[in-house]
Amino acid sequence: MKYYSTNHKSEMVSLKEAIIKGLAPDGGLYMPERIPAIPAAFFRHIGEMSLQDIAYVVANTLFGDDMESVALKNLINEALSFEIPLVKVADNKYSLELYHGPTLAFKDVGARFMARMLAYFNGSDGGDGGTVHVLAATSGDTGSAVANGFLDVPGVQVHVLYPKGKVSPIQEAQFTTLGHNISAIEIDGTFDDCQAMVKAAFSDKEIASKMFLTSANSINVARFLPQMFYFYHAYARLMSEDVDMKNVVVAVPSGNFGNLCSGLIAKRMGLPIKRFIAANNRNDVVLQYLNSGVYSPRASVATVANAMDVGDPSNFARILDLYGGVHKDVCADISGCAYDDDAIKRTIKEEYERSGYLLDPHGAVAYRGLSDHLRQGETGIFFETAHPAKFKETVESVIGGNVAVPKRLSAFLSGEKHVTRMSALYPAFKKYLMAFK
Ligand SMILES: *Cc1c(COP(=O)(O)O)cnc(C)c1O
Repeated sequence: MKYYSTNHKSEMVSLKEAIIKGLAPDGGLYMPERIPAIPAAFFRHIGEMSLQDIAYVVANTLFGDDMESVALKNLINEALSFEIPLVKVADNKYSLELYHGPTLAFKDVGARFMARMLAYFNGSDGGDGGTVHVLAATSGDTGSAVANGFLDVPGVQVHVLYPKGKVSPIQEAQFTTLGHNISAIEIDGTFDDCQAMVKAAFSDKEIASKMFLTSANSINVARFLPQMFYFYHAYARLMSEDVDMKNVVVAVPSGNFGNLCSGLIAKRMGLPIKRFIAANNRNDVVLQYLNSGVYSPRASVATVANAMDVGDPSNFARILDLYGGVHKDVCADISGCAYDDDAIKRTIKEEYERSGYLLDPHGAVAYRGLSDHLRQGETGIFFETAHPAKFKETVESVIGGNVAVPKRLSAFLSGEKHVTRMSALYPAFKKYLMAFK
């Protein structure tokens, strides 16, 4: 299978090239040239299949021409080694808890897939097999998921750049204490400085001639496409409940829209999801697009659901591409909603008091979206993308009680920190990269 760029000005590439390049040379995002249908029989049996078996069928449909089946199977078993439970929260609403991975956030699965796919392709067909350097600028969560997902993956060296004093101690510990192939760089500056330094490195021809650089955010097909397993898995688990499977709606808390976009592709492949709800915080440029047909990106604003503070979602280009830019077709599959911090906090508090179910700020946005927009006869699934303990201060102040921090998370705090400190100037970063062993 070939991959084309959403800007249609670059050549089509193989899966391997799409993964190693990340972004297409024309600035577009890679998309699979065809969206293959999964045979209908699969959907009759999906309810009896495990997460790993479902993921294998889906992955094999997409990647089967490009990867050996044994390798693909092993990769899936390694990347999906934890539970993703579907929990009934209210009469017609279910939470898919995507936060049982190593860093308790949904990005764990995508990061693990990307790491292993990168290692697979880097070592295959006589590629030079040299080290691939993954650069990640982070305001907190991406760095921890990427660092843990790539830890000890052969042939890959990760460099996490983060702004000094602007990530929480627990987030910082998640990528500074790992060692091995994970380097943490503390930048005396802002997140935007970190991102600018990474961008400068990607466009630096001298660096490109010396080393292989790639990025690990959701522009990468290897991080973005595997997220579609969630949608199949959620649908499969819902089959053991007494609900009308023709009326299933999925609400996705969205920032860069990689997660939601992978669900749209799952639907194209045949998964019978009726429609999607794109749930946003105050960063609602996609909701504005759905309402008006006009897309106007703008600077992001800070909210309590900070992993979704995105003013120009990178995967929006993929969504437009999927629907040929036809606004009414986009609206037929996706409806939008947006909530401010007060509404998010109120939702966490009210649901905790009503049922005892503890939402994190991101899941709360999606849950609220279902509560407001589910129609008669529909059943809703919302994605719970982070463990509430990752947003301890917010959640505790809202519920007026303690949130226990899982051992896995607190264990990071006792590790030894290894950090390289740097000014927010590109030449310092370049020197560091060029000198890397
Ligand atoms: C990244 C993230 C999101 C948003 O996912 P996108 O694919 O960027 O839309 C939502 N919730 C949490 C907790 C996240 O870390």
